[in-house]
Parts: sequence; structure tokens; C-alpha cells
Amino acid sequence: MNTTANELLSFIRQSPSPFHAVRLMEQELAATGYEKLYEEETWDLQPGRTYMVSRNGSSLIAFALPEHFPSQGERGFLITASHSDSPSFKIKEHPELRSENYYVKLNVEKYGGMLMAPWFDRPLSAAGRILAGNGSRIETRLVNIDRDLLMIPSLAIHMDRSANEGHAYNPQEELLPLFGGPGAEGTFRKLAAEAAGVREEEILGMDLYLYNRMDGSIWGASEEFVSAPRLDDLQCAFASLKGLLQSENSRQIRVHCVFDNEEVGSLTRQGAASTFLKDTLTRIFQCMGAGPEAYHRALASSFMVSADNAQAVHPNYPGKADPSNRPCVNGGIVLKHSANQKYTTDGVSAAVFRSICRKADVPCQDFVNRSDVPGGSTLGNLSSAQAAMRTVDVGLPQLAMHSAYETAGVKDLEYLVKALQVFYSSGVRVEKDEIVLDGN
Ligand code: ZN
Repeated sequence: MNTTANELLSFIRQSPSPFHAVRLMEQELAATGYEKLYEEETWDLQPGRTYMVSRNGSSLIAFALPEHFPSQGERGFLITASHSDSPSFKIKEHPELRSENYYVKLNVEKYGGMLMAPWFDRPLSAAGRILAGNGSRIETRLVNIDRDLLMIPSLAIHMDRSANEGHAYNPQEELLPLFGGPGAEGTFRKLAAEAAGVREEEILGMDLYLYNRMDGSIWGASEEFVSAPRLDDLQCAFASLKGLLQSENSRQIRVHCVFDNEEVGSLTRQGAASTFLKDTLTRIFQCMGAGPEAYHRALASSFMVSADNAQAVHPNYPGKADPSNRPCVNGGIVLKHSANQKYTTDGVSAAVFRSICRKADVPCQDFVNRSDVPGGSTLGNLSSAQAAMRTVDVGLPQLAMHSAYETAGVKDLEYLVKALQVFYSSGVRVEKDEIVLDGN
């Protein structure tokens, strides 16, 4: 029962940071024959083979080349894009702070726009990467202090009788996690070094984030809900990877992208707004001896599914949703629409994605913001600015987005895996401005 949802929970448990998520996907891809490339090396690509490349260790692009490539009349790329990061708290440099000359707490700052209240009163720990060196070489080590280590305790109701009447949290004062009592001072870096397998004095840099230790759960009257930290957007990253690995396509280049830094605007070296995708796609053509003409032809015939979770109608706040577009958890994959193109979906890309869902025999639903609410944005249009192609923004309907513990649907996850498998397998391409979907 619920095998895919259980696999997702295991994926999330092993991905306390974007670095861990990318490493885990790399391991899974390597196990099925994907070869790792490095951006600073020469790429020796062969038709019919599969490859992956990461940037910053936190963004990943995997691609599968067709048997006959380059060929006359290149077909386009079939691309999915999701993100590896989630809102969290970054641990600052020199993080230890004393309180009452007794407690030791850690100084942190917000990463992304989270709901702050859910971070209180639950076991937390720290994960990310450490850069260590003792001479000429600087090594990157992933770190997960894999035990209940930190907590942000609430203030008792007795000390703030208005606590339930709305509260503006001050992240510098109220969100600092408690680390230890007397004796804990000066030990945090040591603990992190131990978890990384290096000596404390070898640490030259670190990117460590808080994460929620609470395990995921499958629950509800018919076990129809799945809750876990970081569902946005590890759920889509997981489903895209699974869709890719279950697909077959002998004519087109399948590409699976997972970008870091979506939660902070994507404008980093490895974000969706960077050149990472464009660089990778152009290099594939260069390395295979196909010229710029072939690349531009392929780009014009390409399609991207940007997959980032969507807002479901909340059972306790029905008025927050658009009056006529009301996606529900387990009602199917959500197409996201926005008149001012905060989402890339338009009539054309919606038609293509709906056709894919029909072919896959999975339901889909639609999300549009209330006209008096600005709403969010995602990575589709940022990525399009670098490599412009027809793109649809979709996601899985979820509740409590950007909480430390989010809720989505067991069935929806299956739907997305199936739809993306069909997408990768049934080449979407363009012929004289008409879109053709065929099975290879
Ligand atoms: Zn997201």
C-alpha cells in the first residue's frame, strides 16, 4: 500500500538539505547507468547514453540522449524543472549566543519566506555542507547532525495572554534555537566537524541550515494524505526523477532539472534564472558535433514542464481560493495560470499538458489566484528567460505551503509520476507551429 508515497518519505528523510537531495538523486541516477559529468571537464558524449551534471552540489541536470543523435531534423528537448530548496533558517557564522550566562542558543537568519509558527516546539537539527582543508586542497563534505539537537520553545500562554490573537514574530529575538545548557559553549562547530568527518580546525566554510526532524506520515480515513517537511518542492523533484527513469524515448533528448534557490528568487549561479540549463543544452549540441542551427531548431520544438507545488483549497479557509478554480488534494495535477504571466502557462502549453494527462489517464485541475491576491511565483518564467521554450507551470495540490510540515495527496503523487513518464515517452514536438504528441 502507498509504495510511492513511502518512497517519497524515504527520499525526504534522506534529503535534509538541497545538497543531500542532489547527492541522493545522483546516486539513484548512477545506479541506473547515468554517468557523472563535471562542468570544468571536456564532455565526451555518446548517442543512446545517459548523463548528469551538478552545479554547486545543489542543482542537478540529468539527460538521456537518443540512439540517433545528431540526426537530420533534430527534435526538441523534453524538460522538467523543479527545485531542491525549501524555506528554512540558515545558521550564521559564529552562531553561539549565551543567555542568562546559562543557556547556549544559535544565531540564525531566515532562508526564504516560511510560516514561522510551525518551527516552534519540535525537534530540529542542522544539515548542509562544510568546506574543509589543511593545505592546498579544499574539500566539500555533506553534514547531517543526525539526532534531535535543537528546539525553539514557545513562550507560555501565561506569559503572553494575547498569544492567540495574532503575533508578529521577530526572527532575531524569538526564533533562535536552544542548543544546550552550561558546558555547551564552544561545542557546536566541533559537533558539525565530527558529523562531517573532519577536524574542527580544518573547517574553512559552512552552509548549514535548520531542518525539522519530524518524520513524514501517511494518514487520513483512507490513508489518502501524506505530510512531511519540504514537500514543496521535493515532491515534484522526486516525481520528475521517477517519471524520467520509467520513460523510454528513442528520438528526443529527455532532461530532468532540479534547481536550488527558488525560495530566494533563483538569481544565483545555480538558480533557475542562471545559465546552467542553457549552458548544458548548448554543450550537448556542441559536444555531439551539431551546429547552432540544429540547436535553435531543437529549442523551437521543445517543451518544459515546470513542476512546483500548488495551493489546494483549504477546508477551513474556503474563501481564500478563487471562486471558480478550486483545486483539492487528490483531485489531480494542478495547472497554474496567471494573466500577468507569473506562471508560464498559456492556452497552448495548457492544451499540451492536458493532452498528456489524458494520454496518461490522470485527472488535472486548475489554479488561478483570487483577483485581489498577489500570490506566488515559480521557476518556469525565470528559466524561460535563458532558454526560451513553450512551458507549462504545474504542481501538486498541497496544504500548509511553507510550513515546517506540509500536507499533500497520495494519489496526486502517483498522477504526476505517470503524467511525467508519458510526457518523457511521448515526444511533444512542433511542426509548422502545430504541436504534435506522438509515441516516439
Ligand atoms: Zn516551490
